[in-house]
Amino acid sequence: MNVLVINAGSSSLKYQLMNPETGDVSAKGLCERIYIDGRLTHKVGDKKVVKDIPMPTHSEAIQAVLEILVDPVDGVIKSVDEIDAVGHRVLHGGMKFSDSCIIDDACIEAIEACIPLGPLHNPANLMGIRACQAVMPNTPQVAVFDTAFHMTMPPKAYRYAIPTEYYKNDDIRRYGFHGTSHKYIARRAAELMGTKNFKMVNCHLGNGSSLSAVKDGKCQDTSMGLSPLAGVPMGTRSGDIDACVVQFICNKYGMSVDDCLTMLNKKSGVLALSGVSSDFRDLCAGAEAGNEDCKLALDKFYYEVAKYVGAYTAALNGIDMLTFTAGVGENDADARAGICSYLGFMGVKIDPEKNKIRGQEMKISTEDSAVQVWVIPTNEELMIAQDTAELVNAAKK
Ligand code: ADP
Repeated sequence: MNVLVINAGSSSLKYQLMNPETGDVSAKGLCERIYIDGRLTHKVGDKKVVKDIPMPTHSEAIQAVLEILVDPVDGVIKSVDEIDAVGHRVLHGGMKFSDSCIIDDACIEAIEACIPLGPLHNPANLMGIRACQAVMPNTPQVAVFDTAFHMTMPPKAYRYAIPTEYYKNDDIRRYGFHGTSHKYIARRAAELMGTKNFKMVNCHLGNGSSLSAVKDGKCQDTSMGLSPLAGVPMGTRSGDIDACVVQFICNKYGMSVDDCLTMLNKKSGVLALSGVSSDFRDLCAGAEAGNEDCKLALDKFYYEVAKYVGAYTAALNGIDMLTFTAGVGENDADARAGICSYLGFMGVKIDPEKNKIRGQEMKISTEDSAVQVWVIPTNEELMIAQDTAELVNAAKK
């Protein structure tokens, strides 16, 4: 089976053509500068092709992707009919979606209804869906939501302690994000443990970071909230912050709430603390060269992530497994060691040699550690492709 996985942003569109059973990716790429001019970067194995193609809308971007996929020189399939299904990443499923769904009119309407909750991403995701419907009307399409995995949280985890009317009338609550990654890691963790019945905390640490508490394969709590701003400090996001900071800054500097939130999303986090970079590689290099601000940014990050692990361990009344994934979680041994240095109280012991691993699956805890600690590379595209295949195959029966 061939599944085309699409992740449409406001001016970009990422794609992968993959086999959901084997995880083999036959081609992948990126359309950029949609609405401006348009550029396609297409990769097959080690071969990369870059083409400037006019992309006045997402439709032309999808058209360009399909054309290059069937191109006699750069393509990997003979005809668009060889694409069995399309899986779309959709940011916000609100309270309507606790799972992926086959795209029909009702699904599109529900995604539209979630636009107030995901005002930046959902409209772009919809453009990607509509563009695919226009150019391949007979190919089944599936929406996979970043929020869906977290919908098993109990009310004590997802309700905010604010007047109920905002929940009842406006759906204001914790949703959480990176759900496709958390779900992928929870599934892989269950394979590694040989059972579904165990408790774990997953640390998805990348440019954006979130943690989830998972019991028996189901999410019990997660660190992001109504939006991805909440939780631990990130590359450029502040993470959790006292709401009065917004009031103070807006009042003192005559800033609008929107501008203040842009500052908290784009100019904060480890970028702000270090004054150097949002990229953890730069921060590690800075800290090594003696830059105190880089050291503080890293210390703050390790400390806040460890605090969430501690909180979720209490929430689950103990854990069996701690997992690290995404750019930092998979590659940054200092971050894993720094975070675990706070967790000795709960019997976490990592092996410094094993912890040197980068981008590979590996158990990094010692044999006598009370909690198994693993590095598990995430694969959101594969999770999207697998959900898509599952739903499309089930609909055929
Ligand atoms: P996104 O949230 O954009 O998907 P990623 O999961 O790709 O982000 O993670 C990006 C982050 O991973 C960057 O901050 C980058 O510095 C970090 N990273 C990647 N490789 C390494 C490495 N070898 N050491 C430390 N950090 C790394």
